Amino acid sequence: MKGSVYTVVVAGRPNVGKSALFNRMIRRRRSIVHDLPGMTRDVLEEEATLDDGRTFRLVDTGGYDPEGRDEIPREVRDRAVAAIRGADLVVLVTDASAGVLPGDRAAAKIAREAGADTVVAANKIDRREGSEGEVEAWELGFSEVYGVSAEHNLGVDELLDAIGARMPAKEEGEAAEAPREIALAVIGRPNVGKSSLVNALVGAERTIVSDVAGTTRDSVDVRLEHGGARFRLVDTAGIRRKGKTEQGPEVLSVVQARKRIEECDVAALVVDAASGAAEQDAKVASYVQKEGKGLILVGNKWDMAAGEGAAKKFAEKLREEIRFANWAPVLLTSAKTGRGVSKVLDAAQRVAENRSRRITTGELNRSLGRALRDQPPRTAKGSRLKVFYVAQTGVRPPHFSLVASRAEALHFSESRHIENLIREMADFEGTPIRISVRGRSRHDKGE
Ligand code: GDP
Repeated sequence: MKGSVYTVVVAGRPNVGKSALFNRMIRRRRSIVHDLPGMTRDVLEEEATLDDGRTFRLVDTGGYDPEGRDEIPREVRDRAVAAIRGADLVVLVTDASAGVLPGDRAAAKIAREAGADTVVAANKIDRREGSEGEVEAWELGFSEVYGVSAEHNLGVDELLDAIGARMPAKEEGEAAEAPREIALAVIGRPNVGKSSLVNALVGAERTIVSDVAGTTRDSVDVRLEHGGARFRLVDTAGIRRKGKTEQGPEVLSVVQARKRIEECDVAALVVDAASGAAEQDAKVASYVQKEGKGLILVGNKWDMAAGEGAAKKFAEKLREEIRFANWAPVLLTSAKTGRGVSKVLDAAQRVAENRSRRITTGELNRSLGRALRDQPPRTAKGSRLKVFYVAQTGVRPPHFSLVASRAEALHFSESRHIENLIREMADFEGTPIRISVRGRSRHDKGE
């Protein structure tokens, strides 16, 4: 039944939220969602469109019951199974707030027996038990689990990205894939050259798209393209206007920086290369980290600071001053001469990519999982933690979960060590990484 149209089938036991997720994926309200178990519908299909314009066929298997209980007409079940057999990809939906139930295992079995490429969408992660159930869903044995909330539209973009990654690229002759827009915030103390840098960035690029309304009231952003990527400079008007906040007390400029950070994917923290970073810069950088945003450190006015071996010394000093963010790239620019300015966009693009990077569960457990089993990490309380497996449970920023005998915080030095091991596995330059410990749920014990 596989045709030329890429076909994605949404499967799973009743009432896990298949049709709500289906509607999110086609980005339209299609059918009314009832929070009642056992609703039976026929197989439903729609065309869905990705951000880059590629389309696929999305099939909802409706209310079939994989356990084959009698109330579900045999016909419905047969049709669902046929749909799964014809799928290029099965999205197996589970209810993360309920954990893994026999019906989920039965659905997983059907997908596996059909030989279908399958990813798991653990739905309802907004609910209290959701995050635990998301981790549990890895045990269905598929290599990708996406925590989603169809109701709150969480994680659906990541799921669509996973579909896009599997679909054939566009035919030659069609426009290149439009990448996701990267929101870049330029932050830093007054007078370091933010506004000059924004002007230099905008002035250097020929392909400015437009001024666009910012996310917050009264803010104006600028869109531009560089190296095939689209950027949105956050709150350019605020940077150039030099409003009261820029010249006012430092605390106000921190408030403004925070707003920009919240709106961005990547923040470029500008310091005056001649005078270096101040306490306020470290504070703002720690906020970037806390918000899980990408970070680039920019030493501007380099034309005034340069000298023999100065670049290396400057980078080292800056790393000392903002120690916790030693994963952030350091760039040197002169907004005045334009030197190094376009590298800011190149770096932002790399950092945005790293912030969306995923390591497969298999890869993680082959190296990191094994190392942690061989040498159980210490907890903050000093005891050793038995780690069963490691999974990447999120992106933007990358989030890794250690599934262990109990949920207990790691000793600080262990988190650091594990973070370093993860950074050795793949390129995560410029992005913070989250590591957490999750206890294996009671449900799984003794299995
Ligand atoms: P902002 O307050 O951070 O937006 O800083 P501005 O962009 O207004 O720059 C403050 C001052 O530094 C202005 O007089 C700029 O002309 C100057 N400036 C900015 N960037 C550079 C640079 O790369 N080199 C030199 N020499 N001066 C610069």
